Amino acid sequence: MEMPVPNPLLPARFEGHTVALQTLGCKLNQAETSAVGKRLEERGFTRVPGDQAADVYVLNTCSVTENADKETALLIRRALRANPSAYVVVTGCYAQLQPEAVRSIPGVKLVLGSNEKFQIAERLPADLRTNDIAVHRCETEDLGGFETAWSLGDRTRAFLKVQDGCDYKCTYCTIPMARGASRSDTLENVVLQAQKLAGSGVREIVLTGVNTGDYGKGEFGDKKHEHTFLQLIQALDEQVDVARIRISSVEPNLMHPELIRFIASSRRFVPHFHLPLQSGSDAVLGRMKRRYRSELYAERVRSIRSMVPDACIGADVITGFPGETEEEFNQTLDFVRENALDYVHVFTYSSRPGTEAALLEQVPLAVRKERTTRLRAIGERLALLSAERSRGREYDVLFEEGKDAEGVEWIEGYTPNYLRVSVPRESAEPGQLVKVVIKEVLGPGKLSGECLPAPILAV
Ligand code: SF4
Repeated sequence: MEMPVPNPLLPARFEGHTVALQTLGCKLNQAETSAVGKRLEERGFTRVPGDQAADVYVLNTCSVTENADKETALLIRRALRANPSAYVVVTGCYAQLQPEAVRSIPGVKLVLGSNEKFQIAERLPADLRTNDIAVHRCETEDLGGFETAWSLGDRTRAFLKVQDGCDYKCTYCTIPMARGASRSDTLENVVLQAQKLAGSGVREIVLTGVNTGDYGKGEFGDKKHEHTFLQLIQALDEQVDVARIRISSVEPNLMHPELIRFIASSRRFVPHFHLPLQSGSDAVLGRMKRRYRSELYAERVRSIRSMVPDACIGADVITGFPGETEEEFNQTLDFVRENALDYVHVFTYSSRPGTEAALLEQVPLAVRKERTTRLRAIGERLALLSAERSRGREYDVLFEEGKDAEGVEWIEGYTPNYLRVSVPRESAEPGQLVKVVIKEVLGPGKLSGECLPAPILAV
């Protein structure tokens, strides 16, 4: 029998083929990997877990990862061990920034930049056994467009992309080069996607983006974007019937008092504020070209504490930024302590090629690491104090899908203000929102509790 000849005018179909997708980096990348996976399924692919043998591997990379090159090469080697003749696609921020380095990794067949990430199904050759290597990537100034994406953390929580790119110029950051200018989804589409997620049983939606609070930039055809971030969260609050909405992170300069006031009064937006601090030293913030100074950050903390008494406030901090003196680092330690942040995510500075900060005088790595250790110790103490304050109090806890519920004695969930609470397994089900009284502090930000009668929401 003669084999049918594929029509070159029609997109290739891949029934009978498997694809495995893997993500490095942030929740936004995870949401986008999920969207890419759905498109590949529409083309006939069957998805298999990332660590299994597959005909096609897609690796969505990150540029923030310190060893993006090593991690990418490692995952490709693993994929090729599982299937030596697999067709390997690498996309994401690292592919956008270093296409030639990615191309030269043995086994890579297709390199797709940030814009081309969502064209993967169209860019795949009809014959996956080809030895050709292709690179499709545009220049930074041509990066644009907005692709809807969401991913499920588990069945209870979903990450919804509302914004992409960044117009800021922080001197340590490659993201604006990897993702382009700030742009946003339409308010109508975000509301629609959130309604669909809520309708599918999701209990908590996390709004994600590169610079989420900068929502409202971009153009649609010849129309400028018309909505602000405040309008977006007001619309979601009114129109989406979901138990909780969380905001992943907002730059301190964009966390305006009216936003805080609205979150304080909202039934759905949880009292969890993640405000990247990066440094408590104004001199360092200046060298980083951040758009606020420590006083503005402290002012935001005061506003939140006065309007939202039980709020959780957390921060990202970079240690050992170029030129950071011991005195400047101590200012960060003091700032974090004095403002009683509830948690601190500490990142040791690592130089990124192509950034302004890479050209400044670097702090020795051993000093950077030692500062990370000191700041982490303070962060842990603050998280412990925050957990201690909740002892004896009652919270609504949203229980999560465990990896493997069998034989597990405890089930975990989060309070609105982001404390992790465990209760005996038999007293709650994944997806249930249950009132819990806090009994013990298990560690920084970690508690155990007892469920009170009557779940608020059934599964
Ligand atoms: S705000 Fe600064 S750190 Fe964040 S993505 Fe934009 S440039 Fe990077």
